[in-house]
Amino acid sequence: MACLNCSEALNDPYCQHCGQKSISPGITFQETISDFLSTNFSIDGPIWSTLRLLVLNPGRLFREFIGGKRKSYYKPIQFFIVTTIVYLAYTELIDYDPLKGEFQQTARSENQKAFLNLGEQAARLMVKNISNFLFLLATSIALSWKMFEWKKGTLAEYLSIGFYISGIYVLFGVITSTLLTLEVGNKSLNFIVLTLHSTYAFVSYAGETSFWKIGKGLFASLLALILYLIFSFSLAYLIVWIRQ
Ligand SMILES: [Zn+2]
Repeated sequence: MACLNCSEALNDPYCQHCGQKSISPGITFQETISDFLSTNFSIDGPIWSTLRLLVLNPGRLFREFIGGKRKSYYKPIQFFIVTTIVYLAYTELIDYDPLKGEFQQTARSENQKAFLNLGEQAARLMVKNISNFLFLLATSIALSWKMFEWKKGTLAEYLSIGFYISGIYVLFGVITSTLLTLEVGNKSLNFIVLTLHSTYAFVSYAGETSFWKIGKGLFASLLALILYLIFSFSLAYLIVWIRQ
């Protein structure tokens, strides 16, 4: 028998040349569904081990993934895309509006009115395109961590970490949007969750829990948040301004 992907002769259940499983031609629903379930949701599959470590021991995940242990974990950007889809589907389902109650201030002058209007448009644009704007969060985390731990990793490595942290932050959004819909807590909940988890991840990645590292992690997280706000608002304002 020959591999159907690369035509190499087959001796094993998996092709030695390209790694494809030995299969027969044609597609069945059973195959499609079981493939999807086993690669994405099997209990010791990459998605669960990635999630578990991101919550319990993010530093170990970052070290192992960057160190070359790739197949056991979900790739950062993929992970980020999956969590964003889950978040968007969920908030659509519970009809969550992150901007509810905002922009109801009575503006005094025409100038203020125009500015508020621009701000509202920019904020609505961000909410509608949240998946694109969250790319900026991953980038901000990468830049900030790079500044605080210059020698420990490359920017590309920090960007992977940034996508993992953004991904888990988006998943926490499922919980915070539920709480906010039930009118428990307020909007700063999101930022508190992000800052706490990101500080925890920083200390965990450093592998040493000293007062100094925690402080450094906290500053790195706050800087990432500030960079994210600057980047995303500038981009949103720019787009709204160009569209006018
Ligand atoms: Zn092959």
